[in-house]
This record gives sequence, structure tokens and C-alpha cells, in this order.
Amino acid sequence: MARGTVRPAKELCSDCGLCDSRWVAYVRQACAFIHQQFESLERKAHGRSRDLDNEDELYFGVSERMFCAQLQQPLEGAQWTGIVSTLGVRALEQNLVDAVLCVQQSPEDRFTPMPVLARTPAEVLAARVNKPTLSNNLSVLEQLPGSGIKRLLAIGVGCQTQALRAVQDSLGLEELYVLGMPCVDNVSREGLQTFLESTSRSPETVVHYEFMQDFRIHFRHSDGSTETVPFFGLDTPKLKDVFAPSCLSCFDYVNACADLVVGYMGAPFQWQWLVVRNQRGQKLLDLVESELNTQPVMSSGQRAQAVQQGIDAYDKALRLPRWLAEVVGVVVQRVGPKGLEYARFSIDSHFTRNATWLRRHHPEKLAQHLPAFAQKIVSRYRLPQP
Ligand code: FAD
Ligand code: SF4
Ligand code: SF4
Repeated sequence: MARGTVRPAKELCSDCGLCDSRWVAYVRQACAFIHQQFESLERKAHGRSRDLDNEDELYFGVSERMFCAQLQQPLEGAQWTGIVSTLGVRALEQNLVDAVLCVQQSPEDRFTPMPVLARTPAEVLAARVNKPTLSNNLSVLEQLPGSGIKRLLAIGVGCQTQALRAVQDSLGLEELYVLGMPCVDNVSREGLQTFLESTSRSPETVVHYEFMQDFRIHFRHSDGSTETVPFFGLDTPKLKDVFAPSCLSCFDYVNACADLVVGYMGAPFQWQWLVVRNQRGQKLLDLVESELNTQPVMSSGQRAQAVQQGIDAYDKALRLPRWLAEVVGVVVQRVGPKGLEYARFSIDSHFTRNATWLRRHHPEKLAQHLPAFAQKIVSRYRLPQP
């Protein structure tokens, strides 16, 4: 099927790839941007939906365990320490699955994603590190029929997981494991270029970047050097329109329907953050747990005032001069939210921004598209005028 010919979510399409497979037939029930169904998908994946009166579940979704970890022997070239890729490798080596759905890079461009059904550890390792652009992961479902793959590990971000969960019973698989990553503020390849050019001193040599828990963006360049830029120094007027409309209307930051989530936002600086949502997630974790250094989650600081100030500043598209951005960055890093409170800060900031964007651009969708957990979180803040 030709790519991009059918996109019923129109502007809001995140290019999850479902429409590039025969499962496009299910798009109206499965697309995260046409049919918001967190409650039933959580029930399907975990046996229950999240408890909205439990603050941890309200923010981070259904969970059995949450902790911080690092691979004892970090994987060279991975986004963080490489827990995700190592887990994919072990799943094949220990014959838990026949294939791993993951994302390699196109031979021409390091930031252009190329989803694959990896059948060997080398193919999984070739997918390490983020491609920080929209990726049509589910397009490779088209290769499943006739492939002999009966047990699959799918690695992906929230919008991909939602569509996958919605069609999983029709895939002809005997086993499906979902390893999710948190995700926010994704961009098209052109959007990424705008972001790099407005933010980095040398956009053409960036090989890796991450928004880190120290409130700075860390860029790694091809010569091995690093560059950090404070969040507060971003060119907000230019970057306001850079994020994809799908991501400006997304409330699945923490990948609610995955079995196991591996990110960093709830962990102290330089640690990864793991959320085990169900027993299948624990089974995945068992593949690598003995290779991890771990520590309990922690939380400190107060986010609420900073979130409200951020809402107002973002709406006015304020840009701080670099020196002031550096000062604010240092202060916030010292006294600002850390650990789970940093994760809640980031969720609050993105949910309020996205609810505002939806209300302005797609008011007809707001009531149906905003899940109950996001409604509760957003109602804690004063949003800008419509
Ligand atoms: P690695 O071992 O390097 O493996 C990375 C995996 O990511 C690979 O298996 C690859 O298949 C997959 N991948 C790469 N690009 C994509 C893509 N575009 N779509 C789907 N899968 C992809 N964590 C947070 O805590 N907060 C965030 O805001 C956040 N945003 C993210 C945004 C994106 C687009 C992505 C891909 C990830 C994001 N993460 C976020 C997760 C985090 O950056 C790390 O990917 C995660 O902690 C795993 O690190 P690792 O070293 O174990 O991964
Ligand atoms: Fe299709 Fe996925 Fe786009 Fe929805 S987000 S329209 S399912 S490709
Ligand atoms: Fe998908 Fe949401 Fe990530 Fe955008 S921010 S790529 S919609 S999970």
C-alpha cells in the first residue's frame, strides 16, 4: 500500500503506521486521534483501568512497580544506558519472542526512522537510540502474515501502542509483549530541522539529544563534544508551531497501555525510570533485571507554581535572553522539582498546553478526546483564554 494515501485522522495523524497496513480497515476504532478509549484499552492490557483517586496512578497509569535503574554495563550508542535494546536482544536470545518491532535509521539520514521486524540481536541493536521524529512503526504489521512470527515484542511510543492494542486480537499472534517509552513533543523531519537550527550551535553535527531532568537540553555532536541549552532559553515564538499537531493533542505521555515502560522522566538525573504495569511487563523485566543497578523512586520540590507560570509565559510566547535563561536554569535545577515531582511537572505542563491547543484548534473534539485522567489534572490550573 502506498504510504500516506489514507489518513482519516487528517491533521492530527501521528503517522503511527496502522494506515500503511491492511489493518487500516480498523482505523475508525483503533486510531488514537479518532477514538479516545484509554479506559477500555487499559482494562484490556492490564485487567483494570487506572485509579483516578490514587495520585501515582492518576499521573503514571496502572502500575505494579516503579523504580529507577541503569544498566551496569551501558550500551554504547544507546539513548540512555540501553535498557530497551538490551531487553529486545534478551527476548530473542532467550526465545521469548520470534521478532522485535523496533526502529532503525534510514541509511541516508540518521534522524529518519525505518521500522523493522528484527529477527536477530544485531538487528535490534541497530535500532538503538531515539529517532526523534514521527515513526510509522505499525506499517511493518503488513509483513506479519506468512512470516511465521507468532510471538512479538513491540517497542514503541504511546500513540502506536494504543492503535496496536486496539487491533491486537486480529493480528494472528499467540503472544504480544509491549515495551513502551514515554513520549512528548514529537516532530516531523522538517520540524526537527527547525528545532535544531533554532537551538543548537551546530545543527548539522547533532547525533543525539535529550530534554533532561536538569532542565537542559543535552546535544551530542559527531566529534564527541556535548552542548547543553537551558529549557528556559528556547526560542518559544519560533518553536510554538514546530511540534506535530498529533503531539499537541496527545495525552499519552506515559504510554498507558504498554506492559512495561522505560523512560527517564521520573528518575534522578542520569537514571532511567521503569514502570511495570502488569505481569507481562514483569516477565519482560525478568530478562534484564539481574543486569541492572537499581534504586527506589524519589520525589522532591513543588511544581504547581512553576507550572502555572510556565502556562502564562508559553501563551505569551515569551523568550528570555540567554543570560537570564542560564540564571533561571541554575536556580530551578537547585530548588526545582526532582524525581517523580519533575515527571508531574512535565505532565502538568504538557497536558495544560495540549488542552489549550485542542480547545483553540479543535473545540469540537475536546470533550471526547480529553481522557478523564487528563481532565482531572488540567482542572488544577488556570488555562489561558480560548
Ligand atoms: P535504546 O536502547 O537506545 O533504544 C531506543 C529504542 O527506541 C529502540 O528500540 C528504537 O526502536 C526505539 N525508537 C527510536 N525512535 C523511535 C520513534 N521515533 N518511535 C518509536 N520508537 C522509537 N522518555 C521520557 O522519560 N520522557 C520523554 O519525554 C521522552 N520522549 C521520548 C520521545 C521519543 C520520540 C522517543 C523515541 C523516546 C522518548 N523517551 C522519553 C524515552 C527515552 O528517550 C529513551 O528512549 C528511553 O529511556 C530508552 O532509553 P534506552 O537507552 O534504554 O533506549
Ligand atoms: Fe492512521 Fe495512525 Fe494516522 Fe490514525 S495516527 S490516521 S491510525 S496512521
Ligand atoms: Fe505519538 Fe504522543 Fe509521541 Fe506524538 S507525543 S509521537 S502523538 S505518543
